[in-house]
Amino acid sequence: MTEDVEEIVVIPGDGIGQEVVPAAQRVLSAVANVEFVEADAGDAVKAETGEALPQATYDLVSEADATLFGAAGETAADVILPLREAVDSFVNVRPARAYPGVDALRPETDLVFLRENTEGVYSGHEDRLSEDLSTLTRVVTTSASERLAEYACDYVQDRDGGFHVAHKANVMRETDGRFRDAVVSVADSRGVETEEVLMDAFATRICLDPTQFDVVVCPNLAGDVLSDLAAGLVGGLGLLPSANVGTERALFEPVHGTAPDIAGQGVANPSATIVSAAMLLEYLGYDDEGQAVRDAVESVLADGPRTPDLGGEATTAGVTEAVLARLD
Ligand code: ATP
Ligand code: MG
Repeated sequence: MTEDVEEIVVIPGDGIGQEVVPAAQRVLSAVANVEFVEADAGDAVKAETGEALPQATYDLVSEADATLFGAAGETAADVILPLREAVDSFVNVRPARAYPGVDALRPETDLVFLRENTEGVYSGHEDRLSEDLSTLTRVVTTSASERLAEYACDYVQDRDGGFHVAHKANVMRETDGRFRDAVVSVADSRGVETEEVLMDAFATRICLDPTQFDVVVCPNLAGDVLSDLAAGLVGGLGLLPSANVGTERALFEPVHGTAPDIAGQGVANPSATIVSAAMLLEYLGYDDEGQAVRDAVESVLADGPRTPDLGGEATTAGVTEAVLARLD
């Protein structure tokens, strides 16, 4: 631990975000010298002020090194898309791993999706041309693809092996062709091995044998869908963390949403958000602290206590206290 105080922006948002973000804050405070700057976003603040994402929140996030975000309900798109832009996030890092002791369809799953985070079919260019016809413009730039590829090359440096590139360039020759060519050429120039995989074939292969994959680089929509598929293999939304990484700052969030069915009951699984906080620590250079948090979560998942989504009867607070106890 250093002498420096790390300032972290926290946005609990709506639903279980209000429960799991404070849990992760307790864990962060236990391992690092952190100070929190609380900010609002989501349905509740919209009901109060008319704005889902107050300018003050946007400004804080666009200047902070790191932000921890919970979830937003109906207003999710109005909140998270601008926030990803506020951190200039060009990659969405989505690890999907199963944990010993937790029921999973494929307990051997352990991979990371590096998803393009700015363009593709999520570029927002949709048009209604007639009563019968709507179109969508898919945007792929060499620069965004190369930036993602550079990140992927850095990412695999400490692992053995290269990465897979998922695409559908056999059909979308121009757009996915450009994506594939840019990614592969950066990897070649960096001496990193790549293997191409058609995204539809990937969906089958990951179900049959997820151990074939370690790091998978994907276009935006494919990364979204395929990482959710992987979430199904590892047994539960309450476990999956993510990071939206930009050049100078990053925003961390659990993959799950507001979980309105269990919100307010104090039984949400805080693991995804606590592991997101571990990614945040590592991003800021606190590798040992991040690893300690991961180890503590893994140990609690293995032995309990567990929240109801994992078959237990523990509360969010109970699980959080067990994680804190294992950090000592
Ligand atoms: P949103 O529109 O905000 O995404 P949703 O209805 O899609 O809300 P999710 O948050 O995506 O809800 O969750 C889907 C399901 O997974 C719900 O049944 C929810 O209870 C469960 N779930 C999600 N996150 C957690 C968690 N952290 N702990 C326990 N269960 C969870
Ligand atoms: Mg959802």
